Amino acid sequence: TSTSDDLAALIRTIPDFPKPGIMFRDITTLLLDASGFARAVERIVDAVDGPVDLVAGIEARGFIFAAPVALALGAGTLLVRKDGKLPGATVAEDYALEYGTDRIAIHADAFAPGARILLVDDLIATGGTARAAARLLRKVGAVVTQAAFVIDLPELGGADALRAEGIDVTALVA
Ligand code: 5GP
Repeated sequence: TSTSDDLAALIRTIPDFPKPGIMFRDITTLLLDASGFARAVERIVDAVDGPVDLVAGIEARGFIFAAPVALALGAGTLLVRKDGKLPGATVAEDYALEYGTDRIAIHADAFAPGARILLVDDLIATGGTARAAARLLRKVGAVVTQAAFVIDLPELGGADALRAEGIDVTALVA
């Protein structure tokens, strides 16, 4: 058996990255630990409620967790990418950053309306990224009712903001 504490011990905090004052949660150490990585994936899979057609991973660290979760669920893997990276016709969504805006995109033909999509990323902080991804997927007709993150920074309110939009949130480490 495992607890969220043993996953927490595999994640390190690096001060002042990428800017002074930021305490960056580094998941590269979790990925280096085969059993820790496997447990993280397994716990996300166990938290899934009901059928999922696609697992959407958010660039870039979300991809790492989304793909094994999708394979375990028998679902497809959908890449939510930074704008300009996908080769086909895309649909995009803007979101606010502390300074300026960013834009994420998916392939316009990635799924049909009604597809049930689980959103996955490594970490939720303010929720700006995940909420933009949910808006984007819903804009194209997806049913988005579940999201999973390895790490939640609850004091930043992102998970609660997602819940307020009708999305159940699972986080392995808070
Ligand atoms: P939010 O949009 O919720 O404020 O920030 C979450 C996004 O930024 C996620 O895509 C996540 O990968 C990235 N992010 C922000 N802070 C951290 C951090 O401390 N560690 C990691 N691994 N990712 C972070």
